[in-house]
Amino acid sequence: MTSNISFMNGVKSLRDIDVEGKKVLIRVDFNVPVDSNNNISDDRRIRSALPTINYCIDHNACSITLVSHFGDPKGGYEEKYSLKGVRKRLERLLNKKVEFVEDLDASKDEIAACSLERVFLLENIRFYKGEKKNDEELSKKLASICDVYVNDAFGTSHREHASTHGITKFVQTKVAGFLMMKEVEAFAKALEEPVRPIALVVGGAKISSKITLLEAVLKKVDKLIIGGAMSNTFLKALGYDMQDSLFEQDYVQTASQVLQHARENGVKIYLPVDVVITDSIEKPIDVKVVPAQDVLEGFKAVDIGPATVKLFSEAIELSNTIIWNGPMGIYEIDKFSKGTFKIASAMGACYAYTIVGGGDTADAVDKCGESENFSFISTGGGASLELLEGKILPGFQNLDRKIEVN
Ligand code: ADP
Ligand code: MG
Repeated sequence: MTSNISFMNGVKSLRDIDVEGKKVLIRVDFNVPVDSNNNISDDRRIRSALPTINYCIDHNACSITLVSHFGDPKGGYEEKYSLKGVRKRLERLLNKKVEFVEDLDASKDEIAACSLERVFLLENIRFYKGEKKNDEELSKKLASICDVYVNDAFGTSHREHASTHGITKFVQTKVAGFLMMKEVEAFAKALEEPVRPIALVVGGAKISSKITLLEAVLKKVDKLIIGGAMSNTFLKALGYDMQDSLFEQDYVQTASQVLQHARENGVKIYLPVDVVITDSIEKPIDVKVVPAQDVLEGFKAVDIGPATVKLFSEAIELSNTIIWNGPMGIYEIDKFSKGTFKIASAMGACYAYTIVGGGDTADAVDKCGESENFSFISTGGGASLELLEGKILPGFQNLDRKIEVN
């Protein structure tokens, strides 16, 4: 049986085709974080797309049209979600003029007839209602302006949208970009022939969407280390009163099942033995460390405690492959960031193959200066977790293949 990863590894990449004189459309993921003044706070996603764009420029593609979403607009124009700011940063990084296409309908004939080496950036594709509906008309329109489709938007590859999926039905040549291949290769190394023991470290606040995949992941890992708000749900499942902590009542049952299946599969589970609790997140006055089963009335668990940091760090040290998604606490607030930062340092210092994925988790690793010490930082949060779960991501599904699989 072919695994989802070897299926995705089997798609053709840009290197397998000839782009000379071709009109190339590249689906990139320029969904970058911005600060309160709308400045780009982290351009990793733009920089990550440069190898693919530069390859097309260097191999004389006749035109390059870049397509991306940015934020989640309602399906019409919204100033704050315009890609205009991204265009400026891209021009600086590429050192080349990038022409902005505000209206696809008005410009599509010009792009389709283009015979010069030009780079276009299309305005936020989610301003078109058809994008998220995987609409056939929009897919065809995008297909009509190119000879070659390149998907390099790993962060969006778990979505079945017009520019990530629908378009592939109407373009003859469709391949993956270098970022897509790099991401799959990094996960292949961790999952196809992992050097055991392999540990999955999960945390964060998106409990409902992540807890359901833990069941599938149990078959692949030796250790499951759980922190953050995710662990509050598990501690609740153990019968602890978590008081005002963030947890998901609807998923306490799922947490119990995961614990039971882990026992059956011989997977070792690590849960917090102590937690940092506070009377308030915004205005903390009373902050203390208590055993995980002793959260005080009116308090919230907001970080893992020092004994847990020690326990988790030892489990990390004794692993050879580690995948991490989800902070151990509210790392954005100094007082509650110690657990996450110390776990990041423990991973950075260990000799294992380490992958970190997820917007907030990658941000936390960056903030404590450990980025360089990880083997790989994935640009995908949701995408990397669905990949872990064993799914073939829609963004890879219809791309041309190097050799056909039966
Ligand atoms: P990622 O973006 O890496 O996939 P998530 O979005 O799932 O991660 O979770 C990150 C968020 O989880 C952060 O904003 C962090 O403050 C929050 N968080 C972590 N632990 C707790 C906790 N104990 N209580 C409340 N929020 C938490
Ligand atoms: Mg997040």
